Amino acid sequence: MDEWVIAFDGWDPGRVALHEALTTMGNGYLATRGAAPEATADGVHYPGTYLAGVFNRLTSEVSGHRVDNESLVNAPNWLVLSFRAEGGTWFGDQGTDVVEHHLELDLRRALLTRRARLRDREGHVVRLVQRRFVSMRDRHLAGLQTTIVAEGWSGCLEVRSALDGTVRNAGVARYRDLEDRHLTPIAASAHDDEVVYLTVESNQSHVRIAEAARTRLFRDGAPIGGPPSDLDTRVGYVAHHRRVEVTSDDEVVVEKVVALFTSRDEGISEPELEARDWAANVAGSFDELLARHVVEWHHLWNRMHIEIGTDGDVAGLVHLHELHILQTVSNNSVGSDVGVPARGLHGEAYRGHIFWDDLFVFPFLSLRFPQLTRALLLYRFRRLDQARRNAAAAGYAGAMFPWQSASNGRDETQTMHLNPRSGRWLPDASHLQRHVNAAVALNVWQYFQATGDLEFLRFYGAEMILEIARFWASTTTYNHGLDRYEIKGVMGPDEYHERYPDRDEPGLDNNAYTNLMAVWCLCRAFDVFEVLPPVSARELQERLTITQGELDTWGDISRKMRVCFHDGVISQFEGFEDLDELDWEHYRTTYGDIHRLDRILEEEGDSTNRYQLLKQPDVMMLFYLLSAEELTDLLVRLGYAYDGGLIGRSVEYYVPRTAHGSTLSRVVQAWVLARQDREQSWKIFLEALHSDVDDVQGGTTGEGIHLGAMGGTLDLLQRCYSGLETREDVLRINPAIPPELGLLAFDIRYRGHLVVLELTPELARVRVDLAEGAPIDVEYRRTIHQVQPGNTVEISLL
Ligand code: BGC
Repeated sequence: MDEWVIAFDGWDPGRVALHEALTTMGNGYLATRGAAPEATADGVHYPGTYLAGVFNRLTSEVSGHRVDNESLVNAPNWLVLSFRAEGGTWFGDQGTDVVEHHLELDLRRALLTRRARLRDREGHVVRLVQRRFVSMRDRHLAGLQTTIVAEGWSGCLEVRSALDGTVRNAGVARYRDLEDRHLTPIAASAHDDEVVYLTVESNQSHVRIAEAARTRLFRDGAPIGGPPSDLDTRVGYVAHHRRVEVTSDDEVVVEKVVALFTSRDEGISEPELEARDWAANVAGSFDELLARHVVEWHHLWNRMHIEIGTDGDVAGLVHLHELHILQTVSNNSVGSDVGVPARGLHGEAYRGHIFWDDLFVFPFLSLRFPQLTRALLLYRFRRLDQARRNAAAAGYAGAMFPWQSASNGRDETQTMHLNPRSGRWLPDASHLQRHVNAAVALNVWQYFQATGDLEFLRFYGAEMILEIARFWASTTTYNHGLDRYEIKGVMGPDEYHERYPDRDEPGLDNNAYTNLMAVWCLCRAFDVFEVLPPVSARELQERLTITQGELDTWGDISRKMRVCFHDGVISQFEGFEDLDELDWEHYRTTYGDIHRLDRILEEEGDSTNRYQLLKQPDVMMLFYLLSAEELTDLLVRLGYAYDGGLIGRSVEYYVPRTAHGSTLSRVVQAWVLARQDREQSWKIFLEALHSDVDDVQGGTTGEGIHLGAMGGTLDLLQRCYSGLETREDVLRINPAIPPELGLLAFDIRYRGHLVVLELTPELARVRVDLAEGAPIDVEYRRTIHQVQPGNTVEISLL
């Protein structure tokens, strides 16, 4: 595979959705799936355009319950472009054939090219080359250029270029029983001979969305002028039709440039006015816009430099993951009040919600685009008041960020979900994943560690950490018998355990990940007071009315939280060891693919809750997020006997019990095995890297890429195999380079410096690239090397 091109040859209806998701073009403001421009949502194709942060709520009735769902809105389809031989069928309509099909994603330029031969019902064949991009430079603009050649026929070719606002949110089959019409049509008409426009509004959140499309035709490079032959306006739809005489092998180029604005944009008057103005008067030609877009991407690739000494396949997927991350969140998102949606802006799975998956994406961003992490963390800060309300409503103090978040920070977790295997709607308790709060605090702290951005900590980050600490303290109950604090009735990251098999109410007690991360948060709360200037620390304490008594309680909890152990390993939760062992062999032989054992078992009338079986790492998350030193410190602080074998034994225990029902799972497993079983780690890393491109969850990628796994795989290279840590003002490295990788070189932004790392199994070379500023401390195995700006240190790893 080429490092910079991902290609999909042939046309297989079963893989169309997957290719559409993987070839989504976006810029952090808007993204459009790689659907064919002549296609509609017909069960095979699914055109989708999503605008970061544009959500809408609808109420539906399922199984006798009224359920409220907030969804990322599928905006009007701006791609629509079709053609027909006069009197013939429109290409794309039923009965037209795809004779040849080839998609090529040029990663370097973020440009999608489609080459195809299509045949209509009457036998006319056209050859097509279509190129499209969503401008990284001009966030409101996108372009589609189509070259059409009539093969072996002459006559009149009619071209239809439209904006279609009759779209619905119908991208996920499991949601088909839910309401899906989010858009109210407002206006659809022609602006002039070249430009049509369409305005709609989301029917609950009242976000106006306006699109304007300018369509121009060329033959042999010369414009084909004149007014359009038809203007077709219907409710929520507008199209210009043009007729042009073609002879066989003639090349006609159709250039469609689209401007898109919403009422959430800043610095505008009104979306429709802006969209029309930009399409008619501001936007340059397709080629001019493309050139600007390419320069922008060139700069981004410089910032994302990762070089590896292995075959092109790995490098290609690394670039694909980098591309999709920046297509979802980029400088265009800064200032826009958007979070990191778990499935990108690439489809409708999980309704565009924001989970804890940003935890897997931020480390990659913070060391390269720290301004982006800062902007995205503000998404949480703006919802801190709602988080306080969430906490109060659940009977807690402080702030409780929800498991699934969208527009205003209310908990958007579904209360019922459908098992597509059994067809049953089931109660869903995943809102009990309170651990998302530890992720928010960790994200804030890691960003601060990577950047030293004290201003952010002072005005935003500290308040979040303190309110989260307060929340955790309020979730604990004191067990007098044990002289320990406990957290009861929660869920850990492993979603295959919602409740005890013999209890009616959902929730588990003393989930080790939750309890230990709660202690970690309490410790950071104390650190916050240490690192802030004394005046700021005092002001914050007064503002949040944190009393000395409260601090004493936090201190006490942070020394007496309960963690359960069994057989020399950390127990996932109290009583985990009492659950049955699963007969893995039986399920493997019966079902083959057993990622989703939750659905399989439920269909059989059984439940994952009964077994020692994990969807994804839970205890192992601790080894993923915390260094061995940090974890040891926490356990010692809690007064637990710690021995050096605890991590190894726990990994050995949980690895074979993990089903990988989430794409995040392999990321974590590759990480925790990196030092214990490097060969296995590399193998799992490769599997994680293929999660989306091979659609390993069997159909889920078509509904949206898995951004956490994409960020997580990049971070495996960046921080895991390099052993990179930014902690306590020191840049620590501890490389464990898999031999298959050979070389790992990348740049990071660390505290205002550009640091270039070149690592091989034998040698680490660290260069501080800027010629001024303070030196940085680089630590390898307890030896600190002070590196002056402009200098390089070489450390032997043998
Ligand atoms: C995983 C969660 C994840 C969510 C969104 C679920 O399948 O179990 O950990 O946050 O997907 O990606």
